[in-house]
Amino acid sequence: MRRLTADWILHPDGNLVPGHTLVLESNGTIAGLERHAADDSEHIEGILCPGFVNAHGHLELSHLNGKITQGNKLTGFISEFITARRENNAGISDAALVACKYMWESGTQGSGDICNTYDSFGAKKNSPVRFYNFVEVFSPVPGQIAKVMEDAGALTDKIRSDRGVCGIVPHAPYSVPPALFRAVKEIAESNESLYCIHNQETQGENEMFKTGNGPLIRLFRSMGIGMEWFEPTGKTSLVSVSDYFPSKGKIMLVHNTYTGIDDLQYLVTSGLFERCWFCLCPKANLFIEGRLPNIPMLMHEGCRIVIGTDSLASNDSISVLEELKTIHHQYRKIPVAQLLQWATANGADFFGWSDLGRFKPGCRPGVIQITQAGAGHLMPGSAVRRMV
Ligand SMILES: [Zn+2]
Repeated sequence: MRRLTADWILHPDGNLVPGHTLVLESNGTIAGLERHAADDSEHIEGILCPGFVNAHGHLELSHLNGKITQGNKLTGFISEFITARRENNAGISDAALVACKYMWESGTQGSGDICNTYDSFGAKKNSPVRFYNFVEVFSPVPGQIAKVMEDAGALTDKIRSDRGVCGIVPHAPYSVPPALFRAVKEIAESNESLYCIHNQETQGENEMFKTGNGPLIRLFRSMGIGMEWFEPTGKTSLVSVSDYFPSKGKIMLVHNTYTGIDDLQYLVTSGLFERCWFCLCPKANLFIEGRLPNIPMLMHEGCRIVIGTDSLASNDSISVLEELKTIHHQYRKIPVAQLLQWATANGADFFGWSDLGRFKPGCRPGVIQITQAGAGHLMPGSAVRRMV
């Protein structure tokens, strides 16, 4: 048995508590959390918390680290991204392997990962990180929908034959025509898979659906994509496409940078809210759009929040702690325990990983130390050290 005390330990009830002892079996299984600081224990500076759940990443884009200019808004990002992905097709699996190792070392225990290809699976196969794979589809040209779904089906078959867990999901409201949304809905409902979608990452997405104009539509047309299938609805993008969401199961909305109170109220009245989870990727939002979602509003409305890093194409790191530090820097009033809860238990709950995210006896959620940290603060120099 290993006995650890720390300045603060993240209790399964969501609070950071002092003066407790975490008792571990030799294989890292939690034997108990005792309500006193045992004399024979090892004392750890800072916070002890379970391994993180990174709810949204794109491991297969790790080779694009540093290839895309910051601050060009989503339209600038997309146009540079398409070129960067086309021109950089070497070293993809090696970069994914390095990134995957870094995920583990920086405290990530489980992750939701977006896949357009099989490129990240060499890295994932031998990784201790647990993955839920979202096979993502898009097709701004409707004639290609049958082929897109066929390719996605082939990729899910391949992932499942490796014993990987996956589901097919749509990319974003602006890149998925109604027929493709319906095809994804049907397959998600029959497989009871988890569902996620990039949501309201840029103001141009709402503008496109409200008015039929704006920078996203202009970008598609400049790329020779006519978007003839698209009809403005006069409503925000989220309200416009939510009819296509599966009729049961969990839904993760990723980014939410331009999600407003009206969107949340719509989700409540349409009965979707209780199935929705809101993923924050603050560093990617700052990288691309230079702004964060209205996190206090999401909290006030009772949104269940999870944390993602997005990819190294839109972030300089895929450390969950760096995301929490970014939120803490901007919103000091959010308790550190709350941030940690989003990054651990909430993510585990979304993915149905009941053995991760909390120090519960009999579980093996990983144990990480966060240095220079306490119930009231994270520091710029706070870092993760993996204990188990
Ligand atoms: Zn993403």
